[in-house]
Amino acid sequence: MGTGAVTYSAAAADAAGRLEASGVPEAKENALLLLEYVCGSRRQDIYLNPGQILSAEETERFDKLVKARQERIPLQQLTGKAYFMGLEFTVDENVLIPRQDTEILVERVLKDGAEGKRLLDMCTGSGCIPVSLAVHAQVAAAAACDISAAALKVARRNAADNKADIAFYEGDMFDALPSEIKGSFDIITSNPPYIRRGDIAGLMPEVKDHEPTCALDGGEDGLIFYRRIAAEAGVWLKPGGRIYMEIGYDQGEDVTAIFAALGYKDTEVIKDLAGLDRVVCCCYES
Ligand code: GLN
Repeated sequence: MGTGAVTYSAAAADAAGRLEASGVPEAKENALLLLEYVCGSRRQDIYLNPGQILSAEETERFDKLVKARQERIPLQQLTGKAYFMGLEFTVDENVLIPRQDTEILVERVLKDGAEGKRLLDMCTGSGCIPVSLAVHAQVAAAAACDISAAALKVARRNAADNKADIAFYEGDMFDALPSEIKGSFDIITSNPPYIRRGDIAGLMPEVKDHEPTCALDGGEDGLIFYRRIAAEAGVWLKPGGRIYMEIGYDQGEDVTAIFAALGYKDTEVIKDLAGLDRVVCCCYES
């Protein structure tokens, strides 16, 4: 924007136009969310006071954030916050931004019953799965692993901010865990990296350029983490324990086959709100 006084409505319109021109999806909504963030305002304050003048400092901060969003940095990385299962999570470039799709997994675990259960979340990232389960159910215990120390820092903060008591372990999947907790879990959850390596270059710039590749890359066929979970989960689950995993929309059959081949029972594919396959769950019987 030029110099001089800028109103809420002029700032929002200018930003929406710039974001639109840069190919940002939902440009107008993004402009309003950034304006709310910079001015500490609610949506109704902006609509009810379109002539409100931004301070010089607000104008400058808003302009910088719009420029960053034009570079396709995800909105949630600019505000540092994402919302999942009604809770607020801190996010940065070291964690996958919690997606609404993943709420399908959490809702199913809650529906099946997590009260009094011992949970383990693999590839926890921001920690949104175990934190929201621990907040929404009286779980007996929750543990979570990630290979990234930087992600675990974010997850620990999210657990503390949401008052969820979670034991975090750093390392390569199940290798991160101490052997004395073998056979102790009722539920394993995971939203592992599942994008086929060759598909990453075709993702939205927000995802491929700004979210951690290690949270996306599921190997050549996108399935390597499911194979590892299938091979190792039984060691950590109680007999009758259950596994819930997020999957890509076209991975339902493959993931079901991987688990069925290793003797897991009751495999089920659950669809998301768009009607696409999104979660596979199954049961471990020793
Ligand atoms: N749902 C994410 C995306 O496509 C991928 C998450 C994952 O690999 N676990 O943007």
